[in-house]
Amino acid sequence: MTVRLNSHLSNEQIEMLRDKLLSEAERIRSNFQLKKHEYENNSISGAKDEVDSANDNILLAADMRFSNRESLYYKKIMKTLSKVESDHYGMCDECGDPITFTRLIARPTSEMCILCKEESEREESQNFFDRRSKSLGTVMSVNGH
Ligand SMILES: [Zn+2]
Repeated sequence: MTVRLNSHLSNEQIEMLRDKLLSEAERIRSNFQLKKHEYENNSISGAKDEVDSANDNILLAADMRFSNRESLYYKKIMKTLSKVESDHYGMCDECGDPITFTRLIARPTSEMCILCKEESEREESQNFFDRRSKSLGTVMSVNGH
């Protein structure tokens, strides 16, 4: 018997994580169904004047933005679910360290350990600050001297 790469997770823990991913996927699927249903009901509710259709379009656009985010998350869940089958699940994509079960159960789609995640967020905010200080450059140097 070979030792799994993600041996820090017990079979039971992996089962729990798989269950969580499946129920998240199910939640998004039924949300989609509900929205589709709502939309279909609305569009057969009879003739509408142009103002109504304009409102509908705005609502639909907002809905699609929401759906896009949900569908990205859904894709991520599906990707993670196929990863659960491999022994790479629960390992940090960045440094290869094990991701703790506590972190995974809170966010089963985590691909980085907490340290790498914090690091990448720091870099993001650093980039944000660099961009800002470039545009505010003159103001900053006046304040600095
Ligand atoms: Zn890491």
